[in-house]
Amino acid sequence: NTRHTTTFRAELHAHLNGSLSTKTLRELHGLQISHSDSGDATWNIWEAVIEHGQKRTLEECFQVFGIAHSLTTTPTAVYKAAQDVIKEFADDGVVYLELRSTPREVPGIMSKAQYIQAIVDAIQDVADGRILVKLIVSLDRQQGKGPASETLDVILAAHYQNPKIIVGVDLSGNPLKGLVTDYLPILACARNAGLKISIHCAEIPNPDEAEKILDFRPDRVGHCTCIHPLHGGSQELWNKLLKSYIPVELCLTSNVKCGTVESYKKHHFIHLFTARHPIVLATDDKGVFATSLSEEYMVTADSYNLSREQLWQMALSSTDYLFASEEEKNNLKQMFLQIKQLSD
Ligand code: 5GP
Repeated sequence: NTRHTTTFRAELHAHLNGSLSTKTLRELHGLQISHSDSGDATWNIWEAVIEHGQKRTLEECFQVFGIAHSLTTTPTAVYKAAQDVIKEFADDGVVYLELRSTPREVPGIMSKAQYIQAIVDAIQDVADGRILVKLIVSLDRQQGKGPASETLDVILAAHYQNPKIIVGVDLSGNPLKGLVTDYLPILACARNAGLKISIHCAEIPNPDEAEKILDFRPDRVGHCTCIHPLHGGSQELWNKLLKSYIPVELCLTSNVKCGTVESYKKHHFIHLFTARHPIVLATDDKGVFATSLSEEYMVTADSYNLSREQLWQMALSSTDYLFASEEEKNNLKQMFLQIKQLSD
């Protein structure tokens, strides 16, 4: 029965602010009003959006990013947001989590360094033995070369202080805005400093950009929606991806809800899976798209009639693509195998 999937999973593509649950958004709002007496008209509209949960329209999904950002404007709120998200993933059976987030500055209240530190503190304080957590710091492709370079300096300083927690840099943000080529030299500096690189790739048809990303050889790529010839890519691009063996982070519900993929059954997952290309299932924004990692495994299993063994293999192979140390990877792999033996 594919509804009973593996209970041992790694989440490698989760944006902090997109992962906030309804409960966390409400509690963060509660924290905010206790500090201000301003009117609460906007919250009434937001509350309706948050309340819609799984039935949110696409427009409402994107509104949730705005709501989350307006509620995580202090180190205390960022800390709580990260702690809640980590606990929720752990409750869903996630044993290894790479959380990613774009550092934000709020003049007079929070610097980018404090934003990153608040997440690092949350990761250190969770330490409940159920879940190992790492941080990937995101660069927004809309911010421009200069600000991105400054952000990298902040990231590197934080990485030197917390080398075991801050393990990677991601390039994300609106794929219609900005040029990836502006950010590749900055990502190269991050790589030289020992950080792993993940890049959001081909979320919309843009073969030239996708080619440049693959030539850069990131450690992982996100989505790769428009690479296969049937999905707005080309045979050449598809061959290039397969030849690269770069692991792809796949977020089915996010793609279906955003409309970049027509349906679960028509997701490019199947082409990569059939080609035995390295892949890992992920949530992207579990709060915005009202999903969970177990739901992603279930919906993939249901859509493609995958066996329990195939799901296990997928979960197990994801341990090869972590941005953790070799020792941590091996430990996790051993744990996976032990749990599998017990459940067989
Ligand atoms: P944050 O970085 O603020 O913790 O998480 C939310 C941010 O992640 C969004 O504002 C956006 O920049 C990025 N993000 C979330 N989901 C996606 C996605 O599916 N594609 C891209 N390109 N960026 C995303």
